[in-house]
Amino acid sequence: MPRFRTRRRQLVVGTDLQAMLAFILDGKTAALSREHPEPAQPDPARGFVRVRTRSAGICNTDLELVRGYMGFNGVLGHEFVGEALDGRFSGKRVVGGINFGCGSCVSCNSGMARHCPTRTVLGILGADGVLAEQFLIPERNLLVVPDDVSDATAVFTEPVAAACEILDQLPVDFPRGPALVLGDGKLGPLIAQVLAANDFSVLLVGRHTDTLSWIRDSGVAIADTIPATASYDLVVEATGSPEGLTAAIAATRPRGALVLKTTVAGAHEVDLAPIVINEITVIGSRCGRFAPALDLLASGRVNVTPLVAAEYSLDAIEDGFAHAMTRGVRKVLVRND
Ligand SMILES: [Zn+2]
Ligand SMILES: [Zn+2]
Repeated sequence: MPRFRTRRRQLVVGTDLQAMLAFILDGKTAALSREHPEPAQPDPARGFVRVRTRSAGICNTDLELVRGYMGFNGVLGHEFVGEALDGRFSGKRVVGGINFGCGSCVSCNSGMARHCPTRTVLGILGADGVLAEQFLIPERNLLVVPDDVSDATAVFTEPVAAACEILDQLPVDFPRGPALVLGDGKLGPLIAQVLAANDFSVLLVGRHTDTLSWIRDSGVAIADTIPATASYDLVVEATGSPEGLTAAIAATRPRGALVLKTTVAGAHEVDLAPIVINEITVIGSRCGRFAPALDLLASGRVNVTPLVAAEYSLDAIEDGFAHAMTRGVRKVLVRND
């Protein structure tokens, strides 16, 4: 006999909407609500659809949001694989871009909705996120996940897209030489693999490389410290801490490129003189395109399975979030069954 799990559905007081589980940031406190209203069926004319979260990832941005970065209040979470509930992808497994552009400005019209000045961002800026049973997203942001890519892999599409963004930002003729990635936390190992898959000779430096020996199979060398004579064409700073920046500047060769991936709450002091003296090109880097990221994941050239530290059910997300905040812990996934 198949066993069915049934949840008693309740209406949210004062509305005709069902209650759902949602992990909500209010000020600097994030907590699980069991009475958050499910999104109402969206008006198709506005282009939004509902998606049921299947699996979600907790990333550093979520941790920083709780520390006050961006001043966000609402449902957290932006890394997801889900099932579309409306529109032309209804019933399909999907991932989706997290920036919701206005659709009519210069940025949006040139395919750069990620930089729309009036955008909202899923679970980060003015739009409820995916750490809930359901959420809303523009249908045009969605991409169908191939059947042979598991949820636990597809849920990495957003951070892998953020890693791929570096390649979009470098000049096309940038030499595919030695590259240094600083930080072996949640994002660094993805960036290192994406660069290695694109013919860079990559060294990944971090404090927890003892659990990363598998990454050599992706063509990435690892070390606990930056070599004394380090001078790299390309340095990517992904330590998640402001201190990483000084080391990153020092390791970039004259006329090299330094890519900044760390977003931290608050302001920090840094000596900019070496950037001028060595004519270093500094590139701020955030979100990227989803299609190349999903292709890389489907190809198996970026391995994400060993990066999963634990998987929690949405019911137990408060424990999962505390786990994700522990130093050295990589990806914590949240499952909505
Ligand atoms: Zn993220
Ligand atoms: Zn726009």
